[in-house]
Amino acid sequence: MNRRSFLKSTVAVTSVITLRELALPARADQKPAVLKLCSQEGRIPGGSLKEKVANLQKYGCVGIEFGGNPANRVAEIKAALTGTGIKVSALCWGSQKGDLVSLDMAKRKAGIEAIKSALNTAVELESTGVIFVPCFHKQSELKPAELDKVLAEIFPDIGDYAKKVGNRVLIEPLNKKETFYINRLEQAAAICNKLNNDGICMMGDFYHMALEESDQTQAFVTAGKWLHHVHLATRDHRILPAQEPHSYIAGFKGLKQIGYQDFCSLECGCKKGSDPVVEVPKAFDYLRQQWDEATV
Ligand code: MG
Repeated sequence: MNRRSFLKSTVAVTSVITLRELALPARADQKPAVLKLCSQEGRIPGGSLKEKVANLQKYGCVGIEFGGNPANRVAEIKAALTGTGIKVSALCWGSQKGDLVSLDMAKRKAGIEAIKSALNTAVELESTGVIFVPCFHKQSELKPAELDKVLAEIFPDIGDYAKKVGNRVLIEPLNKKETFYINRLEQAAAICNKLNNDGICMMGDFYHMALEESDQTQAFVTAGKWLHHVHLATRDHRILPAQEPHSYIAGFKGLKQIGYQDFCSLECGCKKGSDPVVEVPKAFDYLRQQWDEATV
């Protein structure tokens, strides 16, 4: 069995396989990675969406991430972004209470329809993708191996739909305080590799990764071509980068190794008592400095 067929046959949960073994080599045609900074809408100072967008421009950012399915805000968002150079990075959609992996088929069907609707909105907003978590704690009674089977049942149809409309699902691994299922990037990557459907991709979140990954560089390298979004926060208090010690250099090295072309978005709080107007631009400056220091 050669390396590639081995990867294709790898089962979804690969605890016995090390990150290094799963790592794919950089492609010869790979473009140099880019740091496209962005933020979730709520983190940016501003009394209106237009003010927030103006601030993002001022901070040298190129994207904004919205929560849920903002279907009823499409006109507002398009109006605020037109001509600004700020794009919609991702829709942070979530788990729909675990409905997509429910054994109640009516709930599962409704969940699948809901994520397809979010994919439609993502197309209208030209978003990179729709962030999906199969289940948080207490949202499923199933074991991980059973959840693997459910995803294998539902993802081909959802992935084909996403491809047809021109978008993608982004599986988000979360730390064990939030879910028992898919905690590391290699687990999401194994699912993406097995499905091999461009409509089902993944993301990485530095906060969760700091708690779950032993090697941030290799985690991103393992995600490879499936990685299409990144969240940024500190490890301890999940606040703005630069507000407490947290190095992004190892992770950024991984993004550089895979020629990452998508967004890196703030998903974090702001230290109690500090002023986001002052602290948010500092966070972006710190991230640019860390990116420069991440030499490969
Ligand atoms: Mg996140």
